[in-house]
Amino acid sequence: MVKIDEKLEPILNEVIRRNAGEPEFHQAVREVMESLGRVVAKHPRYADNALIERICEPERQIIFRIPWVDDQGQVQINRGFRVQFNSALGPYKGGIRFHPSVNVGIIKFLGFEQCFKNALTGMPIGGGKGGSDFNPRGRSDGEIMRFCQSFMTELYRHLGEYTDVPAGDIGVGGREIGYMFGQYKRLTNRYEAGVLTGKALFYGGSRARKEATGYGATYFVERMLATRGLNFEGRKAVVSGSGNVAIYTMEKILEFGGRIVACSDSAGYVVDDDGIDLDLVKEIKEVRRGRIAEYARERKQARYVEKGSIWDVPCDVAMPSATQNELTGKDAETLVKNGVIAVGEGANMPSTPDAVRIFQDAGVLFAPGKAANAGGVATSALEMQQNASRDSWTFEQTETRLATIMRGIHDRCAATAEEFGAPGDYVLGANIAGFVRVAEAMDALGVI
Ligand code: GLU
Repeated sequence: MVKIDEKLEPILNEVIRRNAGEPEFHQAVREVMESLGRVVAKHPRYADNALIERICEPERQIIFRIPWVDDQGQVQINRGFRVQFNSALGPYKGGIRFHPSVNVGIIKFLGFEQCFKNALTGMPIGGGKGGSDFNPRGRSDGEIMRFCQSFMTELYRHLGEYTDVPAGDIGVGGREIGYMFGQYKRLTNRYEAGVLTGKALFYGGSRARKEATGYGATYFVERMLATRGLNFEGRKAVVSGSGNVAIYTMEKILEFGGRIVACSDSAGYVVDDDGIDLDLVKEIKEVRRGRIAEYARERKQARYVEKGSIWDVPCDVAMPSATQNELTGKDAETLVKNGVIAVGEGANMPSTPDAVRIFQDAGVLFAPGKAANAGGVATSALEMQQNASRDSWTFEQTETRLATIMRGIHDRCAATAEEFGAPGDYVLGANIAGFVRVAEAMDALGVI
């Protein structure tokens, strides 16, 4: 483990003490603290006024009961969360995750990361995150709708286009956003389009929002490869996951001339040496809401591996786009041994701390999620802009803005890493650039 600066160590210890049993949150805070040593050494004023302590403490945390009735007439209970982390830069902004693994520590880690990610976009959005331990798998449309309505019946009072603007995340896509928006509208009697992002196009959604996280991550990696005179042309890529992020990462890599050799879902992965047929993945995942195993049943040359790690598949570019801590130190060693040249995180914190260290020590280009996957939330901010001006932009216009934002984030991270004496260290660059923007805004607003 990297040694933490002596001014920062007590702050980290205090975070661990008062947030007991939340390892993902500790991990996310620790990583930022590792980077901030260089900031407080250069600019000691950032350690004043308990600025760093305040950044680690959410402004508000809401935990609530979600009762709903399943198709058998049974009453079910889930737990809902919204962690409103920091609003110095704008209304809280961040997705809602529905997954059985969700707990307060996971939502807190995601909310913490979101503050820095959103700051990196340069847009006026604070950080927050929410979700529930509800498992949508195998649930009917009616059950999903009743659950979303019950979730929003509590959450609506904490939201607003100037207060808190949720979006999707794992388990929450266009369908769920629609049900939540409908319930919000009904409860408030307001057509407040800007209260949720990731809406469908016909009621205030933005073009390119669905594609944005994956496209954005690929733009980031393209720019990062270019620093070494490289590109995607003819390169083999492995993209874990088969949700929104993974699907549109694959689409953009293909457009850039790369080849996708493997993708996965939570049950296993498929390898297709002919190159993954993205249309089939879309059909399985977006239309049938099925499992990736179906791919190998329909493509004879493909092979499905139920147990094991997708990172065993040799590739030039790895894009972990499934979930937190999916790529371990052992996986990183395998990838390095197989000659990986770049890793771009499409998911939030998918690489464990030792995996990150192994990549960096081996000189692999490494793009951390809070920078590389910021295209999703950046396009959410573009959706908010369109809603505020009652406008609707073309796909090209929106994607052009996204591409400019991603290249800007890349360049800001690279320049910051350089300024703080660690050229090429995008983890350090992202943490410091994100932190400085949030800290400056907080300082300007006084002790609040
Ligand atoms: N859940 C996404 C993320 O991790 C998007 C959040 C948003 O659009 O507000 O950044």
